[in-house]
Order: sequence, then C-alpha cells, then structure tokens
Amino acid sequence: MRKINEKLDPNSWRECPIVQQPEYPDKSILASVEKELNAAPPLVFAEETRSLYKSLADVCEGKAFLLQGGDCAESFGDFSATNIRDTFKTILQMAVVLTYGGKCPVVKIARMAGQYAKPRSSDYETINGIALPSYRGDIINSFDFTEAARIPDPQRLMKAYHHSAATLNLLRAFAQGGLADLHQVHRWNMSFVAANPLKDKFQQVADRIQEALEFMEVCGISSSNAPNLRETSLYTSHEALLLGYEEALTRRDHLSGDWYDCSAHFVWIGERTRQLDHAHIEFFRGIKNPIGVKVGPGMKPDELIELIDALNPENIPGRLTLITRMGADILPEKLPALVRKVQQEGRKVIWSSDPMHGNTEKATTGYKTRNFDNILKEISQFFAVHKAEGSYPGGVHLEMTGQHVTECVGGAYGLSDEDLAQRYRTQCDPRLNADQVLELGFLVADLLKD
Ligand code: PEP
Ligand code: MN
Repeated sequence: MRKINEKLDPNSWRECPIVQQPEYPDKSILASVEKELNAAPPLVFAEETRSLYKSLADVCEGKAFLLQGGDCAESFGDFSATNIRDTFKTILQMAVVLTYGGKCPVVKIARMAGQYAKPRSSDYETINGIALPSYRGDIINSFDFTEAARIPDPQRLMKAYHHSAATLNLLRAFAQGGLADLHQVHRWNMSFVAANPLKDKFQQVADRIQEALEFMEVCGISSSNAPNLRETSLYTSHEALLLGYEEALTRRDHLSGDWYDCSAHFVWIGERTRQLDHAHIEFFRGIKNPIGVKVGPGMKPDELIELIDALNPENIPGRLTLITRMGADILPEKLPALVRKVQQEGRKVIWSSDPMHGNTEKATTGYKTRNFDNILKEISQFFAVHKAEGSYPGGVHLEMTGQHVTECVGGAYGLSDEDLAQRYRTQCDPRLNADQVLELGFLVADLLKD
C-alpha cells in the first residue's frame, strides 16, 4: 500500500468510485470554477495546520482534550458577524469549563468557515406529494423547494470559498483581538450560571474558576502580561465531501513538499463516504492535514483496523481522529470491541464522541430533533467504555450554535416538542443552542474530573 508521504497526486481520487456527489448539468463550467479556485489564495496555511497536528498529538497521548463544534450546515443566508461571534463565544465558554474540569488544555476546532456540503440519506425529498432533488448544502444547491433551486450550481463553490474566507478572517480577529480574553469568557459563564435553572449545580465550578483567576491576578499574572490569557487558537474544520472543491484548495507546501488541503485545518470523512476503495479515502490518504473519520454502529473491529491503516499507515499520533456516532443505547454494545481491538493492535488514534448523529428522532410535532438527555447519555457511555478499556476519551464533536434556537428538546429549560416551532432555524440537523451547549459543558467537565 502506498504511504501518505509518497505524495499522492490530489486528483487521484477521480479514478475511484464515489458517492454523494452532485450531477452538474454543465461540467465545463464546473471545471472552469475549479480552475479559478485552484489559482485563488489558500484559506489556511500549512504551518497553522502543523501546529494543530502537534496539539492533536497531545490529545492522542491523553494530555489534552478536543472540543469540536458548530453548525450541521453553514448557510449563506445565516452568514453574519453576529452568528459567527456567538458560536465563537459559545465554543470558548464551553472550553473554559472543560479546561477546568479536565485540568488539561482544550484544543478547539470549529465546524465553521467551510461546512457547506451535506451528504443525504436520499437523493430525493418529497413534500406534499412533490419530489425534488435533495438539498445538498449551500455549496451545491439551494434549500428553497423549487426545481430550479435544487439544480447544482458550480458558482456556489466560489461563493462558499468567499464566505469561508470572511468567516475565517473574523474568527482570527476574535481569537487574537480581545474577544477571547479569559476573564471576559468567564464573566459570560457567570451570567449563564446566574440565570440557569441548574444554578446551584454549576455555581461551585464557576466560583472555583473565579478563585483561580483571582489567585493568578494576585500573583501578577493577568491579561496585560500573559498573552495566553487574552488570546487563543481556534482551528477550522468541515466534512470534506465535495472533492472537486477540496482538490482545488489542496496545495503543495514549499517547506516539506507535502500536500495540504488548505480549505481548513482539519477535515473529516463522513459515515456515508468512508468505503475503503472509494474516492474519499484515496483523497485523504494524500493530504498531510490531521483528519477525522466518522464511525457508526455498523463498523466491525477488523474493518476499523483496515480503515486506520489506510489513513494513518505510519501510526502517527494526532493524524487520525475516530469520531464515533452510535446512538446512546447502541454505544455500550458496539464501542467496547472497537476500542479493545485498537488497543490490542497498538494503533494511535484520538477517540472523539459525536453524540448527535446517532440520536436524531422525530418529535410529535413533526420536527427532526434530538433529546438533550440522549446526547448526554451517549457522552457518559463513551467515557465509561473508555475507562473500562483503559483507553482515553479524547474529545467531543457537537452540532451547536451560539443562537437561542429551539431545535433539540430537553436541557435545563425543558424544551418540549411544542417549543420546537418557536425558533427552528436549521437547514439540516438540529443543533444544541447556547444554553444547552454550556449546560453540557458543565456536565462533561464533571465526567472529565472522574
Ligand atoms: C455530520 O457531521 O453532519 C454528518 C453528516 O455526520 P455523519 O457522517 O456522521 O452522518
Ligand atoms: Mn449533521
């Protein structure tokens, strides 16, 4: 088998079978847009990606924790400074609580600045007896339910690129320009706790963080003299589904000669496109980024080892994150054998829990939703399995927003099926809202402490 450092050509995937790709009516327009993108500046730089790689190696060795989160699907319609800022704030707030709980650094990766392509379980969607091609994310077609809107449009690749560039620009400014100040993030958390129905439960942790900050201040460590307290690193990620777009943004790094997918720091392969002989595996083998792959309940231990060896043949810590998404009830049955096999075979991977995609259900009011209790349960079970197997539960992967949407039921505010209609805004899967994310943060911090 070829190794990743043999510098595969970024277009070798074109020879492989592929699923979940759009059928463009005019392939010559697509080719010219891809060419234009290939000449455009990269969105991220190889050196930044290498620094994430190092941080993920720490996660792999149990010295740090990974927090990955953001929209199921970003959309051009929701593109605004407020949305970007609020999701950024919410990720940071959760990270502070997890840092305290785990007593270790938290590596933050946003599902932002490129999360525009969606795999679908069906090629068609039927509403009121009318069947149209499915919405595949704003990089491909439009959410509007008309025949014209659902035709894949190559110009959308360019639009997604520009939206991603602007999002990244703002995220970088926030991370370095004061919005990430630890004292400020902590003040937001104090307001969250003060207003929350579970105030009594969370107050103690918030107070301890406050004391730690005050102690540092007395010792002369403050935002004015310690850059670590006022700046942070936030990396970007998305499912690299639309391979024409990813290939166009893949560049050879001048220093190492390696190929990097410069559309994001971290990219992952979805549950529906990880067939061993298919195009996505081929493309991912050729890039040097740290990468992820979703692992659903159908995965068999031997198949997992083959997948790991295809994607990380040199067994480098930090290269590969297995993002398990099993469902709260199925996880205890399926995960132990996978973890045991990986341990026995000595493969170095990060295990991260996506407690969202195995817990989607239909509310009595018809909405696609997820129950906060099941999300928490899947994470708890994930921690329990890893503890029992002597393995490290390295992170969580959430679909979330900083907005006060009503898409997932449950949580301290007890959102019900009837409440979902109030602010159900997602174009794809239901996300945790800002309060639900922070509540989860405090509860996961408890698990990290054990
Ligand atoms: C997703 O992360 O939005 C997704 C589609 O997940 P999965 O590939 O695990 O179904
Ligand atoms: Mn999703």
